[in-house]
Amino acid sequence: MELITSKQELRKAVNRARQEGKKIGLVPTMGYLHRGHLSLIERAIKDTDFVVVSIFVNPLQFGAGEDYEEYPRDLRRDSKLVEELGADVVFAPSVEEMYGSDHGTYVEVFGLTERLCGASRPGHFKGVTTVVSKLFNLVQPDLAFFGQKDAQQVAVLKKMVKDLDLPVEIIALPIVREEDGLALSSRNKYLNSKEREAALVLFKSLQLAEKLIGEGERQAEKIRRQMVDFINSEPLANIDYVEICSVDDLKPLKVLKG
Ligand code: AMP
Repeated sequence: MELITSKQELRKAVNRARQEGKKIGLVPTMGYLHRGHLSLIERAIKDTDFVVVSIFVNPLQFGAGEDYEEYPRDLRRDSKLVEELGADVVFAPSVEEMYGSDHGTYVEVFGLTERLCGASRPGHFKGVTTVVSKLFNLVQPDLAFFGQKDAQQVAVLKKMVKDLDLPVEIIALPIVREEDGLALSSRNKYLNSKEREAALVLFKSLQLAEKLIGEGERQAEKIRRQMVDFINSEPLANIDYVEICSVDDLKPLKVLKG
């Protein structure tokens, strides 16, 4: 496995692979890898012949007062994990290498980004679509792999690919969870044991919704209300939003169908 930090070296490595007729896969991450990330890399290795894993904590997608500085980083451990899995390249550029000192061009998807996480984290998706566009241009992957944990991100990136006719297919893969149901996340590192326990309220609220739907409830607002009340029963939880929407266009639903 090659650890590459320059865009020029990355292009060279990918060009070589492409000239050998290899199918190229890309797994974009912010590092501090866990089994969720590894599941994407494993699938990329299965589905393509040359796998690039990017590790870049992208300042553009963090808002003021968010955790850009504290975000956990461990490139040495990450590289070892990627190497053990058998991917071909870790691309870990500096911020300066990625954006230079005079970056001034952005990619922005409208509509889909105005609600949900887009509303609670203004500017976040513009940072995501800009960095993912740059990675797509650098690697020109045939397939790019993302987690359904970030469901809105997947919808936004699929829209970007469609609207801009980008020659890449987005593959969305299931959420990997701890045994008790907590979704794996690099940010779980921030939680102390009490908060870790409290965080389960999220998964349990989804299970509650699933149960209500299983019992025949179809009124979105009734389900949403019960989820809100359930989450609010956990003193350590603060809700940004609870919404029930359709998977493709993220439009809010009144009545569940299908
Ligand atoms: P991040 O490093 O948080 O930017 O995540 C990089 C990629 O890994 C994104 O496509 C995420 O959706 C995906 N991912 C993060 N956590 C999980 C998880 N628990 N299960 C599956 N995919 C995940």
